[in-house]
Amino acid sequence: GNEPAPETLTDGFHLLIDALKLNGVETIYNVPGIPITDLGRYAQAQGLRVLSFRHEQHAGYAAAAAGFLTKKPGICMTVSAPGFLNGLTALAHATTNCWPMILISGSSEREVVDLQRGDYEEMDQLAIARPHAKAAYRILHAEDIGLGVARAIRAALTGRPGGVYLDIPGALLGQVMDEVEGQKSLMKVVDPSPASVPNPEAIDRALDVLKSAKKPLIIMGKGAAYAQADEKIKELVETLGFPYLPMSMAKGLLPDNHPQCASAARSLVLKESDCVFLIGARLNWLLSHGEGPGWGEKGSKKFVQIDIEPSEMDSNQKISAPLVGDIGSCADALLQKIGGKWEKPSEEWTGAVRTKVQGNIEKMAPRLKNNNSPMDYQGSLGVIKDLMAENPDVVLVNEGANALDQCRSIVDLHKPRKRLDVGTWGIMGVGMGNAVAAAVETGNQVLAVEGDSAFGFCGMEVETVCRYNLPVCIVIMNNNGIYRGDGENWGNTDDPSTTVFVKDSKYELMMQAFGGVGVRADSPDALRQAINEAFASRKPTLINAIIAEDAGKESGNIGNLNPSSVVAQQ
Ligand code: ADP
Ligand code: MG
Repeated sequence: GNEPAPETLTDGFHLLIDALKLNGVETIYNVPGIPITDLGRYAQAQGLRVLSFRHEQHAGYAAAAAGFLTKKPGICMTVSAPGFLNGLTALAHATTNCWPMILISGSSEREVVDLQRGDYEEMDQLAIARPHAKAAYRILHAEDIGLGVARAIRAALTGRPGGVYLDIPGALLGQVMDEVEGQKSLMKVVDPSPASVPNPEAIDRALDVLKSAKKPLIIMGKGAAYAQADEKIKELVETLGFPYLPMSMAKGLLPDNHPQCASAARSLVLKESDCVFLIGARLNWLLSHGEGPGWGEKGSKKFVQIDIEPSEMDSNQKISAPLVGDIGSCADALLQKIGGKWEKPSEEWTGAVRTKVQGNIEKMAPRLKNNNSPMDYQGSLGVIKDLMAENPDVVLVNEGANALDQCRSIVDLHKPRKRLDVGTWGIMGVGMGNAVAAAVETGNQVLAVEGDSAFGFCGMEVETVCRYNLPVCIVIMNNNGIYRGDGENWGNTDDPSTTVFVKDSKYELMMQAFGGVGVRADSPDALRQAINEAFASRKPTLINAIIAEDAGKESGNIGNLNPSSVVAQQ
């Protein structure tokens, strides 16, 4: 008959890999297992970089961070049900942060799942993924793989980016079809994130509002960092001459020591400004929804906002001048219309902000130079501030409670997209996924500043860091616990407090166990030396930085995030 010879056949494994490669995918963040073990092996054989993690959540966080850093969807691959659910946390994180990511999970066959016959790791994954993703698709036939991958990539990238779930029933991978027909079925996505040009009327309206402001302020968010319009954003900010606040992952878009940077006068500018220009930042909880005492008198401000997502406008406060479009196109249009003719805000406003900034920086400076042992957050982070200034290409990863809050405010960034942290949800445990992605996607040295608690959520991935010999230096800010190491015990029990860990834990041995460099640092001088050695050698390094047990304070009191009991206080 007309049976094709075996060499003219292809199958689901190869079509899926070919479809990803055709669309420029180079790296997969993976955890092998049934039914995707061979998919990972074949992908590696076909020239993709396949990095296997120890737990799907961290592979997923790495894919999410890769999406943020590269403006291309980061790919995470997992097994079915439990592996899928582990990866789903990261997919939801990517969606919440507006980062492009695709979670590809193996699954059981429809006919078994739908009749609930009790398959190995049986779960209706597509239905479960849908509410946590920007889009979710399942591919049932080998000839639809090209379509499925194209739809996933376009959905992840277009408009406001987000996470996409792609369900791969195990049997799909083994399905065969004619090689030539298979190649013809693949699709290379054309222009998945097209420029989104703002309406000229919206530009005029925005400039009118900005012009009439006496005390204007710019707030830049991680959308501005994601946009990769660094030069245009810098030109716009410097042309307008407004003080600006970077949200944590927008730090470094303009250097944090830029004369317009108002980070050290945050309270003053949020309270006193009369017009706030949001660039790729949402007025969500991180900005107290644009209301409350920190924002000054109610109704005292006008808002102008650039966002690619039209429905973001008016989500919390009235936006007087919405600019719907991508940040690069909006900045272009604003600059063109300004045409070099712009009156900067009065010296009365910018000078007052500068004075406040300089005063606060001077007040802080001596505390950052202390050489206390055990260390406090100021002494240890003062060292890291200096080292980041000397090494501006290092990518800073940061998570924890005090380790996060203090590092965010103390450590300046000098270049765009050099900070990866806990994102919109404030997730603990993103550190090692962020660190691996930063090292892999940029090739740069990574410095991960981790609270001892945050590190506990992802610590096993030090093996991954060692296995791929990545230039990652982890500093554990070790104060023996969450918030503080001397946490109170409210119970009448011999159990330790719910917020403390084993005292004098030797985290450096975890790194030594896998062949990396593990050292203990008791003083800022010792910390400086250990980080410098890690940067020079580029070896996987873990520094157990000993912080005084009583140095920290409880976070979650911004905007009253922690409920407190009325009953207990009676
Ligand atoms: P942050 O937490 O740093 O304040 P958010 O995540 O709240 O930042 O806000 C980022 C915003 O940027 C989102 O509303 C998103 O829609 C928007 N955004 C992402 N990419 C672009 C882009 N290229 N152009 C315009 N807006 C963008
Ligand atoms: Mg701690």
